Amino acid sequence: MKGTLVWSDELLSYDFGEGHPMRSIRCKWGAEEIAKIDGIEIVPPRKATDEEILLFHTPEYLGLVKHGAPASIDTPTAGLYEPALWSVGATLTAIDKALEHGGVAVNVCGGWHHAERERGKGFCIFNDIGVGIEYARKHHGLNRVMVIDWDVHHGDGTWKGFKDDPDVFTISIHQDPSTQYPYTSGYEDENDDRNINIPVKPGESEESVIQRLVPLFPRIIPSFMPELLIIQMGVDGHKDDPMSGINLTERFYHAVAPVLARCSRKRGFPVVLLGGGGFNFPKTAQLWRSIVEDFIKVE
Ligand SMILES: [Zn+2]
Repeated sequence: MKGTLVWSDELLSYDFGEGHPMRSIRCKWGAEEIAKIDGIEIVPPRKATDEEILLFHTPEYLGLVKHGAPASIDTPTAGLYEPALWSVGATLTAIDKALEHGGVAVNVCGGWHHAERERGKGFCIFNDIGVGIEYARKHHGLNRVMVIDWDVHHGDGTWKGFKDDPDVFTISIHQDPSTQYPYTSGYEDENDDRNINIPVKPGESEESVIQRLVPLFPRIIPSFMPELLIIQMGVDGHKDDPMSGINLTERFYHAVAPVLARCSRKRGFPVVLLGGGGFNFPKTAQLWRSIVEDFIKVE
């Protein structure tokens, strides 16, 4: 499958400062690892515009970010308006490239799934997944988009943004939110015919998580028929990640990614991979690379 990495050093500016887990070195190392994959094309991002941000976010919230008021206690925005535009722009570039060549495109500096339409939180300023879905509809004429999010935290901002939208299907696999941020959502009783939560209790075996998740794809994907699949490939659920309270290893990502890659190939929809979480920096880069490789090498 053809693959594109969206990267340039502008994305290094998306950095929340010393002492904060959201440092741009994690993305730099990730991009350097992914760039080593045979045959991958590297393209620079463009900067998103205010008009594009407003496809998902409210004008009031955009104004707050421009003025540098903190979005929430864990999410500064001072000096981060321009970097956040680059980060969202990198996701929009990835969407353009994936739709152009029908393969996979990657933005490691993206996947900001906690940001809601009217506020940012959880280290997420603008929700590039939400902006990306609206952009793909407006500029590429798409209707149905699927989001699969295996970050250790529930993809609550994306879910809230589209939970009543029949053309957006969200699947989120994450640590049981009674034991993990964002605490208030991500439970099984919120599931409906377009939104599926798969909470993972600390102590659940990796094999059990794989068995609950993988059989869903051949059932759901042919009936929904996405025109684009966006994957938030956060690896902060890995057992060695400082944010994780669950037991995932390389085996989990390597069980899930090839299945989705084959579905994409068979059904003809492109895939956009977004970095999301991952705070054990060298490990994060290796895991992201192996996920991207699983997509690129599928026949
Ligand atoms: Zn996370």
